[in-house]
Amino acid sequence: MSKPQVQSAIERRHTRAVRAGGVIIGGGAPIAVQSMCATRTQDTESTLKQILLLKKHGADIIRVAVDSKRDVEALKEIRSRLDSLEQEVNLVVDLQESYRLVEAVAPLVQKIRYNPGHLHHHEKSVAVAEKVSFIVRHAERHGCAVRIGVNFGSLDPEKKGGTDDRLTAALASADEHIALMEGLEFENFVVSLKSSDPNDVIDINTLFAERHPEVPVHLGVTEAGMLPMGEIKTRIAFENLLARGIGDTVRVSLTLPFAEKYEEIVIAKRIIADVGNGRFRSVPRFIQEGLNIISCPSCSRVENEAFVELAAKVKEMASYASGENITIAVMGCRVNGPGETDDADLGLWCAPRHVNLKRKGELLGAFSYEEILPKLRQELDSLISSRTERQSA
Ligand code: SF4
Repeated sequence: MSKPQVQSAIERRHTRAVRAGGVIIGGGAPIAVQSMCATRTQDTESTLKQILLLKKHGADIIRVAVDSKRDVEALKEIRSRLDSLEQEVNLVVDLQESYRLVEAVAPLVQKIRYNPGHLHHHEKSVAVAEKVSFIVRHAERHGCAVRIGVNFGSLDPEKKGGTDDRLTAALASADEHIALMEGLEFENFVVSLKSSDPNDVIDINTLFAERHPEVPVHLGVTEAGMLPMGEIKTRIAFENLLARGIGDTVRVSLTLPFAEKYEEIVIAKRIIADVGNGRFRSVPRFIQEGLNIISCPSCSRVENEAFVELAAKVKEMASYASGENITIAVMGCRVNGPGETDDADLGLWCAPRHVNLKRKGELLGAFSYEEILPKLRQELDSLISSRTERQSA
C-alpha cells in the first residue's frame, strides 16, 4: 500500500465541492487520485481483481469502460460482488458514443465521464444539448458526478472547424458544455482538458482555471506512454499546475501490464507529495527534443493484448533514432486510435488482428502484428532520410 499523500503545502484554488460517492473533488478536499481498469469489463473476474488492486493502492475513484449492454451486465455483476465483499468503491464510467447507456449505468456508479467530441458520432439527428440533458438527468437522479472530458485528440468537430488551434477549440468546447450544465442547473461536474503534450496541458488548464475559477479540474496527460518518460511528462504538467493550486483530482495515464496498473496510483501520490513538500524535479516547461513516443495507457477497449508488448517493442526498436525530433504514437483501439494518431509523424493503432500504420495522418495500410515492426522501421528510416536530404539541400 502506498504512503498517504502530503498536500499541506499546496495552496489550492477555491473550487466548488463536487461529490462522487464517498469522495469530494474540489472545495478544498485532498486531491483525489484516479486510475482505470485495463481489463476487459466483461471479464468480470479480472476486472474485479483489478479494481481491488487499485483500491488497495489508494485509488479514490476507479474508471471502467462500458460500451455495450453486455458491459453493463458485467458491471452489474461487478458491483454486486463488491457489495458482497463489503467494498465501497467509487466507480466512474467512461461513456463513449453510447451516451444512452447512462440510463442503465448511472445506478451502478458514482460518476459519469463523457467526451464532448464523441457526442457527435452517433444519432446525428439528436442535438448535442439533448444528449447532454439525457446524461445529466440520469446522473442527477442517481446522485452521480459528471466529468466533461475534453481531449485534444478527439475534439468536437464543430469547434475544430478548419482551425489548427486546438487550444482555442478545446476551450470553446469546455465553455459550451459548462453553459449546458448551467442551463440544466447542474453543478456536480468537473472538467478535464487533456493532451499528450504536457505543455498543452499546462497552457490549457491555466487558461481554463482563469476563466472558470469555480469549476474543479481533473488533471491528466493523456497517452503519456511508458515509464520512465510517461512519469516525466506527467510530472512536468502536474508540478507546474499543482504548484499553482490547479488540479482537484488527477490521473496518471501509463502504458503498463495489467498487473502493474497500480503504479499509476503510486506515481500520482508521489508527485502530489513531492509538490506538497516543495520537491520539484522538472524544469518548468517540457522542451521536447529527440524521439517522443506516446502510447495510450490501455483500457478494456484494447482489442488485442499484444498492444502493451508492441508499445514496448516500438520503443526498443526506435531507440536508434533517439536524437531525431520525431513523434511515434501507439494506440490500443479503434475508439481513440484513429484520431489520436493524426498529429504524430508515425502512428499505429491496434485492431484485433492487425495494426494500422499512419504517416502524418495518412493511412499507409494495415499490417499483422508480426509485420508491423519491420514496416515501422522502414518508414522511420525513410522519414529520417527525407529530413536529412531536406537539411542538406
Ligand atoms: S486508445 Fe483505446 S485502448 Fe487506449 S486508452 Fe484510449 S480507449 Fe483505451
